[in-house]
Amino acid sequence: MNRTTLFLVTGLLLAACTPAEPPPPQTTANTIDLIVNGDYVVTMDESLTVIENGAVAVDDSLIVAVGPADEINAAYEARESLDGSRRVVLPGLVNGHSHAAMTLLRGVADDLALMDWLTNYIFPAEVEFVDAEFVRIGTELACWEMIRGGTTTFVDMYYYPDAIADVVERCGMRALISATVIDQRSPDAESAADSIDKGVGFIERWQDRNSRITPIFGPHANYTLNAEQLRETREAAQEYGVPISIHLSESPYEVQYSKDTYGSTSIVMLEGIGFFEGPTIAAHVVWPTDEEIPILRDRKVGVIHNPTSNMKIASGVSPVTKMLAAGVRVGLGTDGAASNNDLDMWEEMRLATLLQKVDRMDPEALPAATVLRMATIGGATAIGLGDSIGSLEAGKRADLIQVEFDDVHHVPTFDVLSHLVYVTDEQDVSTVVVDGAVLMRDGKFLTLDTGRVASEANALAARIQSALAARNAEASAPTGEQE
Ligand SMILES: [Zn+2]
Repeated sequence: MNRTTLFLVTGLLLAACTPAEPPPPQTTANTIDLIVNGDYVVTMDESLTVIENGAVAVDDSLIVAVGPADEINAAYEARESLDGSRRVVLPGLVNGHSHAAMTLLRGVADDLALMDWLTNYIFPAEVEFVDAEFVRIGTELACWEMIRGGTTTFVDMYYYPDAIADVVERCGMRALISATVIDQRSPDAESAADSIDKGVGFIERWQDRNSRITPIFGPHANYTLNAEQLRETREAAQEYGVPISIHLSESPYEVQYSKDTYGSTSIVMLEGIGFFEGPTIAAHVVWPTDEEIPILRDRKVGVIHNPTSNMKIASGVSPVTKMLAAGVRVGLGTDGAASNNDLDMWEEMRLATLLQKVDRMDPEALPAATVLRMATIGGATAIGLGDSIGSLEAGKRADLIQVEFDDVHHVPTFDVLSHLVYVTDEQDVSTVVVDGAVLMRDGKFLTLDTGRVASEANALAARIQSALAARNAEASAPTGEQE
C-alpha cells in the first residue's frame, strides 16, 4: 500500500467510524460538504508528502481524507467540488504575529528606528486615533488582505480585542487574539492593572464562544511592563488556561534596557520570574544568547520570526537556523502593517530564507521546505495549534488554500515547494477555506464586503491625515518664544 492510499484508507475509516450509524452501503458514495482538487496537494505532513493530481475531502469542518483525486472523487459525493486544474492545494498559512488594525497606519511613519518609531509616532497616533471603530475597520482591512493572500490563522495583538474578535467571527478566519497589556495610557486602558482587568473581561466573554477564536493575553514587552506586571499577567493567563503572546528580545535597545533594569537579558529575566510556566508565543526573538536558546526550547516557547519588520526597523537578523537546529519551535509572522508594510506571508517566507542565507553566507540555510513548514505546520505548532491545523491530514480542521499555477512566473514547474517559496505571490491565491467554509472562491470574497471596507478605511484614513496635518502645522507654527 503506498502512502497516498494509506491516507485515503485512514480517511475513509475515520469518516465511516461514526459509532451510532450503520456503515454506508459499499456501492453508495458518502455525501460530504466539499472536495478540493489540485494538480498537486502539498500536505506538509511529517514526510512532506506531495500528491500529484490529489484532492482533499472535507466534511463538517474537518478533513476526512487526503489522496489521489480519482480515488477521493470516486469515494465521496460532495455538495461542492473545487476544480484543481493548474492549482496547488496546501494548508492555509499561519501568521504568528500581527497587529491587524495597524493596516490603517500603513506608511504613517517609515524609515525610523524601533524606539523612535514607537514612542514618537505610533504610541501617540494610537492614543489619538484608535477606538473600537478604528479597530473594527482596520481589522476588516487586514482580514481582507490576509484572506486574499492565503492566510487562514493569525495571532493578533492590539487594542479593543472584542472588536477584533467580532470581525474574525464574521469573516470566518481563525485567530488567537491578545488583549494588550501595557503600562501606559493606551487607547483602551489607563494602566497595566486596568489593561489586565479589561483583558480578563475579554477572555471571559470569548473563551469557549467560537472554536475559531482563542482569546489570550498580550503583555507588550519587558520594557513597557515591569517584572511584577509581567508576573501578574502570567498569573491571570494561568487562571484562565490561556496562552500569552509577547514581543521578546526584539532590538538592541531592549537587550540593553533589560540588562540595565533587571540585570539580565530578556529571556533569562522572564525565565527568572516564572513567565514561561504557561504557553508563550514570542515575537521577533532577534537577540537570544546561546544561554537563552535552550530556555526557549525547554519551555516550548513558540518563536515567531518577522524578517520584514526586523529588517525595516533594523532590529537585526534573528538566528533562526540556530534556533531550529536547537529544537526551538519557530513560525513566521508579518508584524503590523505599519512596520512591514503589508501582511503578505509569501514575501515573509522569501525574505526569511534569503536573509538567513546572506547573513550566514550559506546558500543552503533555511531551504524552501523548511521555510514553508514555518509558515504552516511549524507556525501552527509554535502557536499551540499543531494538532488541529497546519497540515492536510485526516482528522484536522479543514483550513486550506488553492494557489493558481498558471501565471507566467510559475512556468515551468519543476519543484512545487520551490515555487511556493521563491515565486508565488499573494495574488496567486485563488481559494481559501477555513474550518470547512469557503471564504474566497476564485478570488471572490464570500464573507467580506470589500467595497464597503475600502470606502470606510479610506474615509477614516482621510480623517487621520487631516488631523496629522493640523497637528504638524501647529507644531511648526512660530510661537514667539525666544530660547
Ligand atoms: Zn509586534
